[in-house]
Amino acid sequence: MSSRRRYTLCAALLALGCREAAGQQPPPAESAPEPTRQLRPPSASTAALSPSPSPTLTAEPRCREQPAQDFLLRRHQLAKIGASADEQRRIEAARKRSVDYRTRHYGRFPGFGSRRDNPHAPQFYAKRTKFMGLPVVLHEKIVPVLACVEAALRRDCTAQPYRPRHLSGLRFENTFKDYEVSNHVYGIALDIDSDLNPCCGCVGKWSQVAACRRPVSSPFERMAMPRCWVEVFERHGFYWLGHDELQDTMHFEFLGDPERILLDPPTP
Ligand SMILES: [Zn+2]
Repeated sequence: MSSRRRYTLCAALLALGCREAAGQQPPPAESAPEPTRQLRPPSASTAALSPSPSPTLTAEPRCREQPAQDFLLRRHQLAKIGASADEQRRIEAARKRSVDYRTRHYGRFPGFGSRRDNPHAPQFYAKRTKFMGLPVVLHEKIVPVLACVEAALRRDCTAQPYRPRHLSGLRFENTFKDYEVSNHVYGIALDIDSDLNPCCGCVGKWSQVAACRRPVSSPFERMAMPRCWVEVFERHGFYWLGHDELQDTMHFEFLGDPERILLDPPTP
């Protein structure tokens, strides 16, 4: 079974989209013995973010742009048919490095990583925030970079206006199978408008979606979100899964260094 076949995002996306549309919160984790902190309300800076120009944007965070870290890219961790023993060892080492890094920085998802690296599950660090006026729950470490992205979108993408309607962030279930673990469970992935920005390499209904069936020269042509949005996210350490074989155009994951988001990090 190919990795594409193993990817079962579709049903989970629909379920989460329904919950969000109904204004409900995700259910509690079924297998999370670690303590879960109560979600905090948005901070003063993020709570003030709204779809309309806001006075808080005059106090725009001083953000450090950075690329996604290459070793965290999904494509380095996928099994390859016919891989040599050496190549297989490199792939498995890349998987372990990625899981260990995410565990240290974002929490230990059950079944992946060591408690020695982090005793808490990712939801321990969950924080409710807003992006472009919409509520979303993410890992607290990447809330600042969302503010950076939003400020840059409002500044640099005015020629291609786009207003998202639904977001999906932290999840409590892994939508990948086998050895892969989704960045959604770490709270570092964000889906924007799954009904408008398809995942044409995913299983299920996607093969029947009109945007996935028409011939195009690039995945940018399959989605409603402007290319400018992708470029802004990428400047701030996000990887766009539209580049991946999944062509998951709704999906951004923060693969930058969470310690290098702001030029002036808040003093503890
Ligand atoms: Zn996603």
